[in-house]
Amino acid sequence: MKQDHISVRGKIVDNETRCEHYHSERDVIAIKFYCCDTYYPCFLCHEETADHPVEVWPKEKYNHKAVLCGKCNSELTIKEYLRTKFICPYCKASYNEGCRRHYHLYFDELKTEK
Ligand SMILES: [Zn+2]
Ligand SMILES: [Zn+2]
Ligand SMILES: [Zn+2]
Repeated sequence: MKQDHISVRGKIVDNETRCEHYHSERDVIAIKFYCCDTYYPCFLCHEETADHPVEVWPKEKYNHKAVLCGKCNSELTIKEYLRTKFICPYCKASYNEGCRRHYHLYFDELKTEK
């Protein structure tokens, strides 16, 4: 039994934070949005179910916990997450590297990374 006290909104399809948009084996993280302090599995979930535009995390807030591992329910800080090499530091689950392409939708100052 895993604890499930952190609520994730959006179009979730299972209890490992996969959603209608991203649901491969490795799509197991949710990201907390700076604008509403709420976890969503992806930016599309936020776009389709939140009632406001996204605000990205400013760099000086990267020490806040804003990434949730859907496998073990650990929360990572943004800094921690960016250092993970796409493997959960707690349960060793693999994360989807494709998320990298969307960093600019969540985190400020990563816009230039391709
Ligand atoms: Zn929001
Ligand atoms: Zn989604
Ligand atoms: Zn984990």
